[in-house]
Amino acid sequence: MPRCASCDHWTWPAHFRCGQCGSWEFAWTPVTLEGAIFSWTRSWYAFDRVMERKEDVPYVSLVVELPQAGGARVMGVLTGDDSRAAIGAKVRGTILPPSPKTKHYPSVTWAIVS
Ligand SMILES: [Zn+2]
Repeated sequence: MPRCASCDHWTWPAHFRCGQCGSWEFAWTPVTLEGAIFSWTRSWYAFDRVMERKEDVPYVSLVVELPQAGGARVMGVLTGDDSRAAIGAKVRGTILPPSPKTKHYPSVTWAIVS
């Protein structure tokens, strides 16, 4: 995760400049990919902008808060049993390489751990 080299503010998504102090310098800092569900939603339809996931419908998308990164929030799709999707549930993430399903961007998937 990018962290401001001047004021230590965590920034996600990554930006070219710190929103807190205006610094241009960031240090990419390793972070354990574990957090708690901040919000979630289940997609029941394949929308135009995510037709790559039409075969996954229904699927659950999460916004996960990372306390070890200043509360930065990272989005991703939930894998496995989604019946326990709930605000506050503990999750562990996996970074996946770019693929056609993710519009050729790297992505994060989440699995519930508690
Ligand atoms: Zn800063």
